[in-house]
Amino acid sequence: MKFPNEELRYEQLFRVTSKFHSTMDIDAVLEEVLNTLQDVYPSFTYTLFLAHDNTRHNVIPIKEIKEYEHGDNSPVMQAFVTGSLQLENLAAENMSNIYAPLKGRQGVYGVLQINAYDVVEFPTSEIQFIELLANTAGHAFENAQLYQQSKQLIADLQLINETSHKLNSNLRLIDTLTFMSSQIRNSFGADEVGFFLQSNEQIEVLPGSTTFFEEGHGEPYVLYSLDRILSEKEPLFIGDLQVEPAFKSSSYRSMMSVPMVQRNEILGVAIVLHESPYFFSFEKFKLLQSLIHHSSLAFTNSILREELEKLVITDYLTKLYSRNYLEDCVQESLETDAFGTFILIDIDDFKRINDTYGHQVGDEALVQIANLIKENIRDHDIGARWGGEELAIYLPKVGLTSGIAVAERLGKRVEQLSNPKVTISCGVATWYKESKETFQSLFHRADNALYVAKQSGKNQVIASENKVVEGHS
Ligand code: GH3
Ligand code: MG
Ligand code: MG
Repeated sequence: MKFPNEELRYEQLFRVTSKFHSTMDIDAVLEEVLNTLQDVYPSFTYTLFLAHDNTRHNVIPIKEIKEYEHGDNSPVMQAFVTGSLQLENLAAENMSNIYAPLKGRQGVYGVLQINAYDVVEFPTSEIQFIELLANTAGHAFENAQLYQQSKQLIADLQLINETSHKLNSNLRLIDTLTFMSSQIRNSFGADEVGFFLQSNEQIEVLPGSTTFFEEGHGEPYVLYSLDRILSEKEPLFIGDLQVEPAFKSSSYRSMMSVPMVQRNEILGVAIVLHESPYFFSFEKFKLLQSLIHHSSLAFTNSILREELEKLVITDYLTKLYSRNYLEDCVQESLETDAFGTFILIDIDDFKRINDTYGHQVGDEALVQIANLIKENIRDHDIGARWGGEELAIYLPKVGLTSGIAVAERLGKRVEQLSNPKVTISCGVATWYKESKETFQSLFHRADNALYVAKQSGKNQVIASENKVVEGHS
């Protein structure tokens, strides 16, 4: 066996190192190292062993270091563990083997095995050269890993940064959660994401949860998570759910569950699922904890704010909308729609109900009528308490004929279903874009119509323009 001259070898080494400095592609560097060795020592064979190789290598065949295969005393393991080059002289077979660790600054990443035929004793200069090459590969490996890690760290920071910006912008709860959900799905690769609130033994699926959870399939996962989180006081990181008897046939195998905590109280839980076992890394678990921790306050603030908003726009007795809210809705409709109908309702002889049965029963009668209103209008119609025993309905994009029909139907139902029996009078007014109506003029026309209804015997619907539409009396 004849070894090449030193100049050529160092030219080769220079080629490898420049490759190493010009690329973050670990495969390219490993390939260059192997090509160089093949150029310099064409008759040798080469095997690369890498520890925990989780990147794809398309170009070069690579084996994984497995302790159970190599054994503690094997030269591969020795080179890997000690980080120093191992030599094996097999004089009888007229060959020697070299095991060179791929060493970086922070550790050993693998071992390069060289089977040298026709070589019984390696000259020191050749060993140094091989060691240099192996170290170059080790450093390339380390660099690529650090590069990957720093890229991941930057992505994680960006995620936290973007999320806290969004949470600070006072979104609606549904927007906050929908945003969180898509962040988690995108950056964690999760199959399912769910947010759950726990109150009075009830579990509420929050908006933003994926369909699987929204359709109610998540209950076992939620109950299991809450149960364990409450007893262990720790978030859950489960690599394989199928180990649990209750989830033997679960199609999801990886689960992370992080409680939403405020003032030491567990308000609910966020659950992230994936079909593959051991899908989420521990880093992702930490990241999820940090995201949920940062957003719990924003969640509860949104929830409280929305409850408060609801209180403000809801009448405490009838649970109809407040007068203010109805006015706002009419204003908005006047600006955006082409027409709409306003119905003002007054209970007939309500004073007598109070006087006969007492105020309490009067209240109940009011609630009954409110409920009949809710049942008789559609989702985007507004039923409101106008004040005292006066109620109102606004029907956006509804014309006079339909508006009158709604009032008529309600009047009949109140008469039939109320107990003690009461009747109502209604004034109906419709606006059309051409008539340049204001809220005040619309209200006045309805109020005048109502006045006419009262004057003409009550229990009837009068449309504005003082035209008697129909009476039931
Ligand atoms: P009309 O047919 O002309 O409307 O006769 P009315 O008795 O309904 O009219 P009036 O305006 O004289 O009386 C309204 C009564 O409604 C007086 C008030 O005590 C009663 N009322 C107003 N708000 C409430 C309430 O929240 N609960 C109860 N129980 N009664 C109320
Ligand atoms: Mg009244
Ligand atoms: Mg009345």
